[in-house]
Amino acid sequence: MRILIRFCVAAMLLAMFAVRPAAAHEGAHDHDRDLPSFSPSCHAAAPVDRTAAAMIARGEWTCTNENWRSDVPSMWLRFDAQGWHDELAPRQLITRIARFSSITFYAVDDDGTMRSERYGQNDGRPFADGPVFELPLPEITEQTRMLLVRIEAPHSVPLMSEARITHDKTKTQWRPVNLVLLAFVMGMLTLPLLFDVNFYVVLRERFVLLHAGLVASMMVYVMFAGGLVSAMVALPLALIAVLAPLSYAIAGGLAALFVANFLERGAQSRLMRRVTIMVGYFTMAVPGFLALQFDVTQPFDDRGYFITFIPFIIVVTSAVIEAVLRGSRSARFILVAWAPIIIASTERLLRGLGWYVGPASYDQMLYVAIGIEVVVISLAIADRFLALRHERDAALTEARFLEQISTRDSLTGLMNRRAIEARFDELLRQGFNTFALIDLDRFKAINDLHGHQVGDAALIACADAIRANADRDSIAVRLGGEEFVVLLRGEHTLERAEALRRAIPMRIANQVPGLDLPVTASMGVVVMSDSSQHAMAFAEFYARADALMYEAKASGRNRLAYERQTVFKGAARGRGPGTNRGAA
Ligand code: GH3
Ligand code: MG
Ligand code: MG
Repeated sequence: MRILIRFCVAAMLLAMFAVRPAAAHEGAHDHDRDLPSFSPSCHAAAPVDRTAAAMIARGEWTCTNENWRSDVPSMWLRFDAQGWHDELAPRQLITRIARFSSITFYAVDDDGTMRSERYGQNDGRPFADGPVFELPLPEITEQTRMLLVRIEAPHSVPLMSEARITHDKTKTQWRPVNLVLLAFVMGMLTLPLLFDVNFYVVLRERFVLLHAGLVASMMVYVMFAGGLVSAMVALPLALIAVLAPLSYAIAGGLAALFVANFLERGAQSRLMRRVTIMVGYFTMAVPGFLALQFDVTQPFDDRGYFITFIPFIIVVTSAVIEAVLRGSRSARFILVAWAPIIIASTERLLRGLGWYVGPASYDQMLYVAIGIEVVVISLAIADRFLALRHERDAALTEARFLEQISTRDSLTGLMNRRAIEARFDELLRQGFNTFALIDLDRFKAINDLHGHQVGDAALIACADAIRANADRDSIAVRLGGEEFVVLLRGEHTLERAEALRRAIPMRIANQVPGLDLPVTASMGVVVMSDSSQHAMAFAEFYARADALMYEAKASGRNRLAYERQTVFKGAARGRGPGTNRGAA
């Protein structure tokens, strides 16, 4: 987190470094350059039918940098002559891209003659110096007293407030630091996009897709709102005018949907989540629609665009704050990521609403903030990625644990009946052809004489004795009570089973001191000579071994009864000519 904050501060400092010279360039335009460029001296709103002559005679001009409006049928700019020499007289109008229906110039000479020129929106030529375009002026001479500009149906305040006239627009070309900055931001945006693609391959979460969409719209925004696109292709002014605010509205909407999907489940109330999603669609639809700048929306789309962003700001901020208060880690990432963007957007919003007039170069701050946002959110996704993987690993461990306790006997740690039954067929196929059932002799008496705890200790000792003799060719199971099964394969299984049985009393005596008599065990063993030919079910083995066990108990306990089962091809099961019985 601390590293992240430091990174953001560093990026913001870089932005300020980039903005400051640019801002200076704005103010000191006239001195900075060999060739001057001029801002409007005055501006005025007027009805459509107002003529230039009427504006000269009795226009209600505002000659300060205030009262800029775009919700009027037409807006007039007045550039008063400021020693325009013939050879350096202004030749172009340059201003910020937005839609309009027409721009008409009137060059008014001292003697009252007027040269006018009228252009439609398609005549404006965008060029890479910010999101700006140029129009050629009618001839301006030393005799020209003023230049009037009538902008019909303007769709944005900066279209007028940032208008400049200049002799040679190539001399006001963008300073390299700005291009470097935009390229830097584009680079910052490219990497997260690649990250997202990779994350999505592993982590099929919707928020990764939403973030990829967010990054893509931010890229379009930086390309179009920063004017970088005009350095690459010559696009119609209307397209640039629309795509910049539209991509921002779509990015906003995706950002809200991202928040709703990215925050942890418990981090947002259901109402907040629902409202956040609604505001996401609203932001794409309403400011998105106003961004299209249709003729019918001209009286309100500029202000409307910024105003309809307000629900987004309120709701998303509330959602993030709520999540932070609920202890969400993701929300803290979002807070760090969005603080710069919120500051820069608020500045842009106030400027867009015309509440104050600031240089367009402040937009650079927003671009850097966007870069920061995207990088920090990518880190947040990476963080979530690790968290989810951690969760998944924990779930796996838990599942393994559950599986283990469901297949293990809790007292002795041997496998339980469920585990052996589930794998029995497989074990037969692996050659475990000997089923040795073990039952401790007169065990009830141990419990009665010494108590259950001693009885338990004896069971554990018995299990230990069995386990000590078990290897990869024998599998020990506690069936229940004081009954155990050992499955054996390989050579001399009967002898190995008998050795095991004999080891039990000694082990119990060693491990459980104070028993008066040795605890012996009886055994019923079924050996199948040819398991590949014929497989018996667990229940069948168990029933047979149990019957043998009964025999062993009946003939005095502490012994083994066995049965060798030779199964011929197609032979019926059971004791028959192939059965070979005995006792030891
Ligand atoms: P036999 O030689 O005929 O097998 O005599 P026995 O006393 O062992 O008879 P039986 O198998 O019927 O009795 C089993 C006894 O094992 C009953 C019960 O008290 C005891 N037992 C079963 N499970 C446990 C256990 O988990 N812990 C303890 N301490 N005793 C158990
Ligand atoms: Mg018993
Ligand atoms: Mg028993």
